[in-house]
Amino acid sequence: MLMQGKTGLVVGVANKNSIAWAIAERLAAEGARLIFSYQSERLAERVAPLVKELGPSHLVLQCDASSDAEIDALFAQIGQQSETLDCLIHSIAFANREELSGQFVTTSREGFRLANDVSAYSLVALARRAAPLMAKAGGGSIVALTYLGSERVIPNYNVMGVAKAALEASVRYLAADLGPQGIRVNAISAGPISTLAARGIAGFTGMLKQVADKAPLRRNTEAAEVGDTALFLCSDLSRGVTGEIIHVDSGYHIVGM
Ligand code: NAD
Repeated sequence: MLMQGKTGLVVGVANKNSIAWAIAERLAAEGARLIFSYQSERLAERVAPLVKELGPSHLVLQCDASSDAEIDALFAQIGQQSETLDCLIHSIAFANREELSGQFVTTSREGFRLANDVSAYSLVALARRAAPLMAKAGGGSIVALTYLGSERVIPNYNVMGVAKAALEASVRYLAADLGPQGIRVNAISAGPISTLAARGIAGFTGMLKQVADKAPLRRNTEAAEVGDTALFLCSDLSRGVTGEIIHVDSGYHIVGM
């Protein structure tokens, strides 16, 4: 039971296909008590029953991560429920659908701002509030989800690739700032997985096929594989690892042609 006695905040469950859900299942199976935050009341009826399946000790709260006021309210509620926090899973991203097709050069100022705000800045905002609760626990682990489109040009990924580059740089700066308090910050760069967010990217099915055809392991990434790596990053097994981007993508990122 790698997570026995530990409390985690999981941001980004929309439904059972969400990567955040695969991570939560893994953390809960190893004994973690989890607090889930979902974006809007519209999602409550999907997320609450799922969390119930995990067991009675978990909590579900609402928070739009693009609002500082809502993040403050979330942490005020968390503070009432738990004195400390051991891990934070950041598994959220958003860009306007029209900016996830065609050319990057057409990205609007507002679309650029929105994608970077929700997908990258939110990590900084959440980490800043989580840090004092983690420091009280003697340290903690923050894990974000990213994608290869931050490093290479992936057709249609466009502004989300730029936001993921900002997210990955934020992981490194946060790791440097929070390391002295024993707080580690890492990201998992996952291969394409069919989720609500992923299906918003034009040509997503082609991305799945490309990975299955060309990745060293010749298959797509399973959400459970990301869950296992997140468990490693949240547990003491990874106590010497921070500021790292770990690819869980069947090895696709090493392939040139
Ligand atoms: P998903 O649609 O299940 O999850 C995305 C989540 O982001 C949803 O729960 C949504 O409510 C949340 N969200 C969006 N805007 C928000 C806001 N303002 N406030 C709070 N929450 C907000 O899709 P997913 O694929 O599980 O995505 C999770 C993470 O994994 C994202 O960061 C995504 O970029 C990343 N990722 C996904 C893939 C993939 O192929 N699915 C690959 C690599 C990385």
